[in-house]
Amino acid sequence: MTAAVELEGVGKDYPGGVTALENVSLSIGDGELTAIVGPSGSGKSTLLHLMGTLDRPSRGTVRVVGHDVGRLGDRELSALRARFIGFVFQRFHLADGVSALDNVADGLLYAGPDLRVRRERAAEALERVGLGHRLRHRPGQLSGGERQRVAVARAVVGEPRLLLADEPTGNLDTASGAEVLRLLTALNAAGTTVVIITHDLEVAGAVPRRVRMRDGAVVADDRAMTAGGEPR
Ligand code: ADP
Repeated sequence: MTAAVELEGVGKDYPGGVTALENVSLSIGDGELTAIVGPSGSGKSTLLHLMGTLDRPSRGTVRVVGHDVGRLGDRELSALRARFIGFVFQRFHLADGVSALDNVADGLLYAGPDLRVRRERAAEALERVGLGHRLRHRPGQLSGGERQRVAVARAVVGEPRLLLADEPTGNLDTASGAEVLRLLTALNAAGTTVVIITHDLEVAGAVPRRVRMRDGAVVADDRAMTAGGEPR
């Protein structure tokens, strides 16, 4: 399996003498669906930021779809991110006074098609997440679950290879959380590599692979096995 993301001997220090990650080596294969679990402060968000090229490692190597993040300048990193990576956050991060359609269309700003094409593709993405009837609604007029589905549509409108989600169900009721999980699972089944930070046992229990962090290190990496003993 080719890797969507590979980390080798990665460490990350923050100012003030905090070592958030130490000697993390991890490979996320193309097409995998993985949960990152572990207690608060164990380094999960730092790991996701490095996978998403939002930050660079202090030590070691991070490769995203084969590109060594440490060797790229800021503009090249932005281009890599725009082309290959979508993000979903716990607090949705939608623009308030802007329609669902234009929130999603903004996910294509960097890719450069004109507004008409961006809106067409945004409408298609919103259809796919079951919100074709909410195009003109603003985030304040939508439920939490609907807002997160808009955020998922924005993350995937550019058809990224890699979708990174930081506690995507953390602000949702059980039914809306289950709906978002179904969506992420369906995107993965269609070929997107998905990595989800989660405290949600429903989510962690539903994915084929769980990477467990503690004190800035990977302490377990479980893959569900099929009846034949092969990784699912
Ligand atoms: P988690 O996502 O598992 O809660 P984080 O990756 O957010 O863990 O944090 C790991 C450690 O790094 C924690 O001790 C946290 O306080 C510290 N940390 C995270 N971000 C910063 C930052 N920007 N500056 C300083 N320390 C940070």
